[in-house]
Amino acid sequence: MNMLLQKNVSVDPLCQVCRMGAETVEHILCNCALAVQCWQIILPQVLINNCTSLVQWWEKVLEVCDNEKRAEVVTVCWSIWKVRNELVWNKKYTRINVVIARAKQYLLQWKLAQKQKSQSQYPYFVEGDGKELWVAPQTDYMKASSSQKEL
Ligand SMILES: [Zn+2]
Repeated sequence: MNMLLQKNVSVDPLCQVCRMGAETVEHILCNCALAVQCWQIILPQVLINNCTSLVQWWEKVLEVCDNEKRAEVVTVCWSIWKVRNELVWNKKYTRINVVIARAKQYLLQWKLAQKQKSQSQYPYFVEGDGKELWVAPQTDYMKASSSQKEL
């Protein structure tokens, strides 16, 4: 946004969701009414009033959240951005519970896809069974390697 304004491109500098602040990444993801409502629900332990730095906010998230919650936070950020774009481009407003539900559903689908992907790459691997299985290489398959070292 700032780059467009510096180049004299005519853009509306106000947040397109709430029209209460400049549309910066900190505003959209932390300070906008939509974001604040999301974080009050899924991240009440990281309430930062008037966030001025996304990095500072993210450091606080890292400090208090485990990896599972961090993944949820990132996905909600994506969902907030998507809602903002739907409003700007399609004039469609999304309710707060839908923003969060969409993020959680997306994260669940992503995790399932990752699990399916890992299972399809290693067909004899059974996750969590504690065993490692050796599988004979294919008969028409030869493994070769080379070294870049000079002798
Ligand atoms: Zn806003």
